[in-house]
Amino acid sequence: MVLGHSHESALKPEKIRRCSEAIDETPVLSEADLRLIRFTSDYYHHPVGEVVAAALPADLRQGKPLHPTVETIAATDAGESENIETLALRAPKQAELLELLIDAGGNGIEAARLTEELPNWRRAAVALFRKGHIGRFEAPPEDFNETLTIAAADRLTLNKDQQQALEKLRGRDGFGAYLIDGVTGSGKTEVYLQRMQDVIDQGKQVLVLAPEIGLTPQLVARLRNRLGIEPALLHSGLTDIERLTAWRAARSGAARLVVGTRSAIFTPLKNPGLIIVDEEHDHSFKQQEGLRYSARDLAIVRAKHLDVPVILGSATPTLEMLQHCREGNYEHIRLPVRAGGAKPPTLRLIDTVRTPATDGISEPLGDAIASHLKAGGQALIFLNRRGFAPTLICASCGHIAGCERCDSRLTVHAQNKQLRCHHCGASRPLDTRCGECGEPVKPLGEGTQRLEEALGVRFPSKAITRVDSDSTQRKGAMNEALDRATQGDADILVGTQMLSKGHHFPKLTLVGIVNADQGLFGTDFRSAERMAQSIVQVAGRAGRESRPGEVIIQTAFPDNPFWSTLIKGGYGRVANEALAEREVTRWPPFTRLALIRSAAHRHRDALEFLELAKRMVADKADDTLRILGPVDAPMARKAGRYRVQLLLQSSDRSSLHSLLRALRPALEQEPSARKVRWSIDVDPIELF
Ligand code: ADP
Ligand code: ZN
Repeated sequence: MVLGHSHESALKPEKIRRCSEAIDETPVLSEADLRLIRFTSDYYHHPVGEVVAAALPADLRQGKPLHPTVETIAATDAGESENIETLALRAPKQAELLELLIDAGGNGIEAARLTEELPNWRRAAVALFRKGHIGRFEAPPEDFNETLTIAAADRLTLNKDQQQALEKLRGRDGFGAYLIDGVTGSGKTEVYLQRMQDVIDQGKQVLVLAPEIGLTPQLVARLRNRLGIEPALLHSGLTDIERLTAWRAARSGAARLVVGTRSAIFTPLKNPGLIIVDEEHDHSFKQQEGLRYSARDLAIVRAKHLDVPVILGSATPTLEMLQHCREGNYEHIRLPVRAGGAKPPTLRLIDTVRTPATDGISEPLGDAIASHLKAGGQALIFLNRRGFAPTLICASCGHIAGCERCDSRLTVHAQNKQLRCHHCGASRPLDTRCGECGEPVKPLGEGTQRLEEALGVRFPSKAITRVDSDSTQRKGAMNEALDRATQGDADILVGTQMLSKGHHFPKLTLVGIVNADQGLFGTDFRSAERMAQSIVQVAGRAGRESRPGEVIIQTAFPDNPFWSTLIKGGYGRVANEALAEREVTRWPPFTRLALIRSAAHRHRDALEFLELAKRMVADKADDTLRILGPVDAPMARKAGRYRVQLLLQSSDRSSLHSLLRALRPALEQEPSARKVRWSIDVDPIELF
């Protein structure tokens, strides 16, 4: 990718590459696009070439042209006159393929799409080609078309809070950052939609970033129905050609609405008017490997570059955003009550010391499930742990089955009779006897599979749907499960945080949180914030329509002050207290962090590399900088590598960045850098 040129160079001639071919007649990226790319490279201290690569769809990255042609298959005249029924008797696969192609008509079907529908179609195609019943040609892929046949649905009449929020958002067409901090079901989406409509009516484009879009088909359907135009979608479930087509439509302006996950922040826009980040607190906006960027933060930078407004929405805003609002950088817009008359759910704690849980479900929670189902409601049981049980333990010697390559326990997956490591992916057959003493072993604790099984025993006539990354591996499985939940066909939903994100299940009245204590004693300074976010988000699925919602939280520590803060003051009070604490302890957002990680097969290599980095940093540091480490990562060994980290903390962003700017090239020069895998993570959200 050529970003510029010069008539002279300090490099030796043999180091300079020749351009072999100009693939596109005009640059695929504009100056404005490159400005964001250069900013990203600078801010995250990452090579600009890799940022460009992240910004481009795979096909362009591999050197294909912006307007490619694709292999397309169509039935010939001879094929169309073939008798399908007779063919089906002899060669059913051929008949199936031919029928599909005849139905598609003269334009045929792209080979990539055929592969999706009939994975082995090429085998059946051989004979059909030979007989001349089908033909192959190169054609431009189907282009993006935003017109929908459905008319836009009527907008809702906004309530007073929503109306005020919309007025504020309409205050400016140039740059401004707005945080819509609205309780779950307060009608945030409704407010964005009306602001989006304004911008689209002005003939400008709107870019919406959402957490992993596969998880939010409801959001896309809502945008489509309300605005009456087809969004150009950019997410991981697309073929390369589909992705390129959507990207091109955003770039040319053919798509006025562009909706995507994290990497869509780099999508070129012909005529940008507004950027929206939905569920701003979601971790999927931060890329955790390679180019470690935050799409949420880049959205704000990009909006500033483009001089357009950016709207961030959440029921549980991050402390970073709340602090920006306090400092007056962003406008804080609150929607304190649920829209359309739904009441907030009530929260109740169950003490699992006094009323112990069997297979994860305490007696009071079991009774609540029964009574909500009897009243025609639906229950969601939340546990952020997939598998059958998180631990396999020997009843006799207490030995626990661990991963050979990580410092972690193996999770029991009873259905496939396996033990699996959720950190490196290793798996092995389930032991029946202890590897140490030979006595029988048993699964300890609960995962979502065990809960599903236990609920099945307790409620044999009820339909139970489990949603976690195991149950949704098959393409389309997630959407099917969400449909069952939305239609009310599933009585009980069991799942991980995949179920907590943004969904609207009209009949859902009870949320049970099975093991809420995982975050109470977390070591990360973000533990309380995280835990409150996850509980409030999942609780927000309850009682979104006319029937009131109830949330039951099982905890072994009901007296922990966290609970009274959350129950009495909601997320807002937890956030205020956490902010006050961070100010005293000097953690973000009151300071800035950069985490340098190294990993190696030998512990010494990983450690020594960071000791060297520490010396380099200490040489240049001023008194705004605090250096913590190097220390072993909380999970010190993963996939056979030892992991060590060095944390840099500073009250002054620019001095931290000038340090990093000098550090990266210096470390790259070091011979010992070749023995380790290392990285710089600016504004890390996970400290491991
Ligand atoms: P949020 O994005 O804050 O979770 P939504 O925009 O999804 O909230 O709204 C929650 C529910 O309330 C939806 O069913 C929506 O149709 C409804 N709703 C939103 N605004 C209004 C309104 N002004 N009048 C009636 N119903 C509304
Ligand atoms: Zn492992």
